[in-house]
This record gives sequence, structure tokens and C-alpha cells, in this order.
Amino acid sequence: MSKLLPVRGTHDLIGENFRLQNHVIKSARFVAEIFGYEPIETPIFESTDVYQRTLGETSDIVNKEMYTFKDKGGDSLTLRPEGTAGIARAVISGGLQDNTPLKWYYSGPMFRHERPQKGRLRQFHQFGAELIGVADPVADIEVISMATEFLRDLDLLSEVKLQLNTLGDLQSRKTYRETLINYLSDYKDELSEESQIRLTRNPLRILDSKDINDKKIISGAPSFHNFLTPEADLFFKNMCSGLEDLGIEYSSNPYLVRGLDYYCHTTFEFISDKLGAQGTLLAGGRYDGLIPMMGGQSIPGVGWAAGIERICMLIQKPIEEPRAICVIGLGKLGEQEAAKIALKLRQSKFKTELIYKGGLKRGLRRANKIGAVAAILIGENELTNNIVTVRNLDNGSQTEVGFSELDSHLAIYDSATLITD
Ligand code: ATP
Ligand code: MG
Repeated sequence: MSKLLPVRGTHDLIGENFRLQNHVIKSARFVAEIFGYEPIETPIFESTDVYQRTLGETSDIVNKEMYTFKDKGGDSLTLRPEGTAGIARAVISGGLQDNTPLKWYYSGPMFRHERPQKGRLRQFHQFGAELIGVADPVADIEVISMATEFLRDLDLLSEVKLQLNTLGDLQSRKTYRETLINYLSDYKDELSEESQIRLTRNPLRILDSKDINDKKIISGAPSFHNFLTPEADLFFKNMCSGLEDLGIEYSSNPYLVRGLDYYCHTTFEFISDKLGAQGTLLAGGRYDGLIPMMGGQSIPGVGWAAGIERICMLIQKPIEEPRAICVIGLGKLGEQEAAKIALKLRQSKFKTELIYKGGLKRGLRRANKIGAVAAILIGENELTNNIVTVRNLDNGSQTEVGFSELDSHLAIYDSATLITD
């Protein structure tokens, strides 16, 4: 048997880490709901075609990162590396093309066979939003505004910068592509190996190269913005001014091209400088070509996905959780009564920890260990008098309370917030 370790680039989510991740997703859901988006969940695996055809043969994902396998029936399946292609497939196969605009949010694990490092895993989690069926920049503005509010809700807005670019429409890209190939061909031998391959297959991606020498060459390249068709130029300008109207700060980065082939017009990233090379927390753009590319109608779309693990890495403060109330029964009868009281508290939505066995000392040790706010003690004396003893674990004070007054007495414990969802 192989060693019992999690597979490289995957990890178990336990305790604080899990809570933090839930906290981030909860906040994202909250904001998405406020924006009027609805939840969607697509399967974790799809026919390989769904990704192969849409993400682009030269994209990092299709080239080297997909977890693709044949199932027992011989079908080629792929664990989802991202959310948008599966959602576009769902629009088509679910017969939803006439129901636009579709406003959706999702969250869940994604799988990419990359080199694991800080902020880069093989199974990671994304939260994403898609607005499908709106061609006007008002849609781009809305999804960017939602991303901004999400980061604001997490108190991270001051930690990140929004960068924007446009990839124009097909015509803009066609003209620019030729110009770029011409320019880069003069430096062909100096480009990195990867960029040399991209030169013929996907030259725009070279703009995104992290190679220092490539970057130098690129800095002299003609700017995409000068090759935009008037319509594409207007689209970008309208979007930028819409963001300004909403007070959303951004900077324009002409080298932001993003990895996937289906993007057009708007691309954007929220970046932090605290996470080294893996600084992009949330990224997205417009994908008007995606649904038609999959054989659907000509329906535009725009959206983004956030890397949950990377966002968690930026959150320093501990997540506040409701503190439990411990119920400790002493002796057989005490234990029986404790179980009943615990159930009553749970029905009143108090976070309740029932101490199973082991007497007062052990019970209190456990109560302190889990940071309980109070312990309810039920021994012989309490049973005879139909009361419980409530011990405040922060200051040690004890109060005797009648069974029926227990709920209202516990209201004094502010930090024993009721669990509401
Ligand atoms: P990168 O340039 O870091 O490889 P990407 O362009 O491949 O990112 P997207 O496909 O746009 O990333 O995914 C959106 C977000 O998901 C990223 O900005 C990042 O926060 C997160 N993400 C992507 N790949 C990983 C990974 N392997 N591990 C953890 N988070 C990831
Ligand atoms: Mg990547």
C-alpha cells in the first residue's frame, strides 16, 4: 500500500482553516445574493470536450494542467479545472438560452495538475460569478462591482489593486495579432522557449510572460489599445467611465491578457503584492465567444472567479465563532438530565457541548479547552431542587437557575451567540 498521505498539491481542510474558508465563501454568497445572483452547481467532472474545445489548445490548462481520464465505459472525462466552461455547457444542455439574463454564482473545488507551491494547489477552491446574456458594458461593470463589494466585505479592499485591460473584439485582435507577430519576430531568438512556441500559436499570450527578458522585449511592443476597432474602443471607455461613476479604482494594464482563449473585451484581475508570484486573488473577463463556440446561440457573458485559498492567506484576524455552552451531568441521573437539557438548548439554537462522561473535573477541562462561555452543572443537589448551576467560565461565578428560566438566564452570555444559519 502506498504511504497514507494526501496526494501532492491537495490538503485536508480541518479546524481553523476550514472555518476561514467557510467564512470567505459565506461572505461571497452574501454579496452575490445581494446583487440578485442565484446559486448554480455543475458536476465536478465533464466530458473532456467541454474544456478542450473551449479553453484553447494553447492555454496552460489544456496543454498541461487537466486531470483527464477514461472512465470504465471508455469515455474521456476531465475533473473541472475552472467553472465557466461547465456553466456554459449547462446553459446549452439545460435549454436555458432563452432565459437570459442568467445571473449565477458558484463555489467548489477545481483541479489542475500544476507545480504545487505557496498559493498554487492541485485541488483548490474557487468562488465565481457569471452574468450571461448581456452584451453591454453595464454587465462588466456590475460583476466588477460585485467583486469589489465582496473584497470590501472581507475588509481586503485596501490590500488589493484592480487591473483592467481590453482584448477588443475579433477584428481588433486579428489586426493586432499580425502587428505583434511582426514585431516579436525580430526578437525571435531572444524570446524564452515558451514564448517562441507561442509566437505562432498564441502570440497574445506572450504579453503575459513572466520571463524578465521577454518582459523587456514586450515593453517595446506596439500597444493593443491603438488597434482597437472604434466599437471595441467605445466599449472599453464606457466600461471604465461606468467604474469611475461607482467610485471603483483601477489601473489599466495593457499586458493583462489572461490564459484562456474565450476572453474578449474586458479582462481584469484583483492583485495583492503580499502573496509573491501567486498574487492574483480574483480574475475574470468577458467571454462572448464561449457559448457559440460550444454550439449554442450567440449569447455573451462576463464573469470572474476568486481563489479561495489565496484570499484566506490574506486574512489575518481569527474568525469569531459563537462560544459553546457545556452541559455536565454528574452521576447516572445527572447524565440523563444533562442530555435532556442539552437537547433543549440545542432546540433553542445555542451551540451546546454535552460532556459525555468523566465527572466535574474532566468536564470543566474540556469546557475550557473548547473555549466554552459557561458550564451547566447537574448533580444530585440540582436534581432534587429542579435547578441547574450555571458557571460563568470567564470569571468563575456560579448561579443557581430553575429549569424553566435557563434559556432567559443564558441570554446574559453575549458571546454565546445563537447559531442562526
Ligand atoms: P495563475 O496565473 O495564478 O496561474 P490563472 O490565470 O490560471 O492564475 P484563473 O484560471 O483565472 O487563474 O483562476 C482564478 C483564480 O483562481 C486565480 O486568480 C487564483 O486566485 C485561483 N487559482 C488558479 N489556479 C490556482 C491553483 N492552482 N491553486 C490555487 N488557486 C488557484
Ligand atoms: Mg494558471
